[in-house]
Amino acid sequence: MASQDPRPDLLSLVPEELDTILTRHFEARGEPAYRAGQVRHWIYESGVPSFDEMTNIPLSGREALAEAFRLEAPEAETISRSRDRTAKHLWRLADGELVESVLIPSWDRLTLCISSQAGCAMGCTFCATGWGGFGRQLTAGEIAAQYRGSRAWAEAEGYGPVTNVVFMGMGEPLANRKAVHPVLSILNRGFGLGARKITVSTVGVVPGILELAERPEQFGLAISLHAPESELRASLIPLEQRHPLPQLLDALRTFRDAGGRRITFEYTMIRGINDDERLAPLLAELAHEFHAFVNLIPFNPIPDQDWVASTPERLEYFRSTLEAGGVACQVRQPRGRDIDAACGQLRANALVQLDEESRPRARARVPDAAGG
Ligand code: SF4
Repeated sequence: MASQDPRPDLLSLVPEELDTILTRHFEARGEPAYRAGQVRHWIYESGVPSFDEMTNIPLSGREALAEAFRLEAPEAETISRSRDRTAKHLWRLADGELVESVLIPSWDRLTLCISSQAGCAMGCTFCATGWGGFGRQLTAGEIAAQYRGSRAWAEAEGYGPVTNVVFMGMGEPLANRKAVHPVLSILNRGFGLGARKITVSTVGVVPGILELAERPEQFGLAISLHAPESELRASLIPLEQRHPLPQLLDALRTFRDAGGRRITFEYTMIRGINDDERLAPLLAELAHEFHAFVNLIPFNPIPDQDWVASTPERLEYFRSTLEAGGVACQVRQPRGRDIDAACGQLRANALVQLDEESRPRARARVPDAAGG
């Protein structure tokens, strides 16, 4: 359960609401209007976890802020750093739920992968998060706090600024649209990340894709495709039964026609499951229609599942077929394997250590995909 604290969480507010609520607060106290700008600056430009550390606000002002508001700042339960410098935070939320975010450095960027739900209800058969079951929706502040906390850590540790954010951690972001829509605004207009540097990843929540297409900002969209045919896809992604591939592709056409937006297809390669040679040209055809970039991802083993990754030769076959079909693609090298940095892996490993009875939730169900 999210925090029962009645004080509004300033990190959950979109920037315009934040300005209004702070301006009113300082006006009511007879304090100068510029104080609102000072607090806004602390929230978006710094990583200070509490009002106490907003040192250019007088002590009485800080106390009044803490009385009226709160600032979501989950504790880092663990921080693991991989040999390849991938760094993973496991955040403990106020009610004890655990969520992950992962910093992935590459030569020209620092990508932060954030979670939108504690666990996930979608039940995709190849996914560690799906295996662990659903906890609850995260609030906008709990999602934004992963960015704020990770950014502060990255800057202190010499990783430099976070340049890109992907909603590819735990959860299906478009099943938590009530929180994810404001977070997109907070990241873009509050923290100042360009919309094209922010990517929402979905297994195909069609109403959510259509909502994103209606937004004026050009956020990126990554589709967890994993199969170019409906029947096979349904065996991997239960949501396919609710929003079958033809419907998903129609939504993607609307998204594409909204203009200037990037679409990526994610394709996890599982040996003998979805890597038959005949599927490669079908994938190429789909990706070509949407000018989609394709990430081919070698499967990362999860608990209670004996699937393994496709062979390097089969990955190469898919890659070269896509390229021959005019599709930009890459085989995504696994990052942070030594720290279990794949989606939901750390939480899954924490859960597997619990015995069956104390495991918090049963295996996933397919939720109402309208979500949020
Ligand atoms: S792949 Fe994404 S939507 Fe599917 S179970 Fe994992 S986190 Fe949920």
